[in-house]
Amino acid sequence: NTFQKLGLNEDLLNAITDLGFTEPSEVQEKAIPILLEKESDLVALAQTGTGKTAAFGFPMLQKIDIDSRTTQGLILSPTRELCLQITNELKLYGKYCKGLNVTAIYGGASITDQARQVKKGAQIIVATPGRMKDMISRNLVDISKIQYSVLDEADEMLNMGFYEDITDILSHTPDDKSTWLFSATMPKEVSAIAKKFMYDPIEITV
Ligand code: AMP
Repeated sequence: NTFQKLGLNEDLLNAITDLGFTEPSEVQEKAIPILLEKESDLVALAQTGTGKTAAFGFPMLQKIDIDSRTTQGLILSPTRELCLQITNELKLYGKYCKGLNVTAIYGGASITDQARQVKKGAQIIVATPGRMKDMISRNLVDISKIQYSVLDEADEMLNMGFYEDITDILSHTPDDKSTWLFSATMPKEVSAIAKKFMYDPIEITV
């Protein structure tokens, strides 16, 4: 299995076999070894459908401490649909990671229910920016121990006017975390956010 060469662990390789993935996609081949080996920031120019969820999902699942109930990974995505899609994919990829808890946070659903899910001890939160900011301001979520943050579809999030929310959310996370930004296009707004929140990112294009 060519995923083995990327450095993924047994739990993830077993899930990959179950899913029937035979070889990594280009973005996975480029991003996974970097994200596993380095505590570096990453800017990836990649469209949807390229397998980018697994490109950041596998390394995040491998690097977080599943024995801890602390929230260590935060993925911001533009819409509720994407948020749920990423959450479902991560649960599939992490099906053999015992004790893994991935929680989705998005608008248009009960904030009380979502707060309850978070309180159970989610190591990874997948969120839309508006609801995430709301939950932070109400003290319903603690992201002060985040080690890995992903800005997924960054161009879309900025198009939708989430700049302020993203800035506010990231200000509640530690400075020494890693940030991985994925975007289909690289307009100057995206470069600006990369410049503001990332330190010397490695860049990949697929
Ligand atoms: P994404 O670009 O992350 O939305 O992924 C698009 C679809 O490709 C999803 O349904 C994934 O489950 C699937 N996928 C991701 N990586 C692979 C792979 N290496 N081989 C086959 N399918 C994959």
